[in-house]
Amino acid sequence: MKINISNLSEGVHEYDFEETPSTIELDERFSKPVVVKVELEKRRRQLFLTAHVKTSGRFVCDRCLEDFDRDLEQDYRMTYVYEMNDAEGLDQDEVTVIHASTNEIDIAEDVRDYIFLSVPMKLLCKDDCAGLCRKCGKNLNRGPCGCPTEDTDPRWEKLKQIMNKN
Ligand SMILES: [Zn+2]
Ligand SMILES: [Zn+2]
Repeated sequence: MKINISNLSEGVHEYDFEETPSTIELDERFSKPVVVKVELEKRRRQLFLTAHVKTSGRFVCDRCLEDFDRDLEQDYRMTYVYEMNDAEGLDQDEVTVIHASTNEIDIAEDVRDYIFLSVPMKLLCKDDCAGLCRKCGKNLNRGPCGCPTEDTDPRWEKLKQIMNKN
């Protein structure tokens, strides 16, 4: 995922990339091609990059432990500057300093990082995943399991009986 920036004219340039996940060192959860659309605006002292990253991964649901596929999309921005002075007013996380003799910029590492960022902290096969029954372990998305819904602890039962007598 390299962009040749030597002799790049000032103005906006567009690039399209499509790579297999393993070529940018994504793990085996990612199986579909990684598609990146890049807009690169070259100015005299900076290069402003906007990228739209799309892929898909196979994850394990935190609640029911089933595999599920999920599409991932992420936009990110990166500004390439030749000197830190030219990065004034920019978010430092979105700045990369390059050398005057740099001929190409490789976005593979940033693309990979932003794909990882796009993976939700909580992985659910669907928002209302019913999860597993705590007693029998059945996947409740496939229907009720027949276990009694209320946990009845014999000690509480005793207490209830005592309370009811009063
Ligand atoms: Zn689930
Ligand atoms: Zn059950």
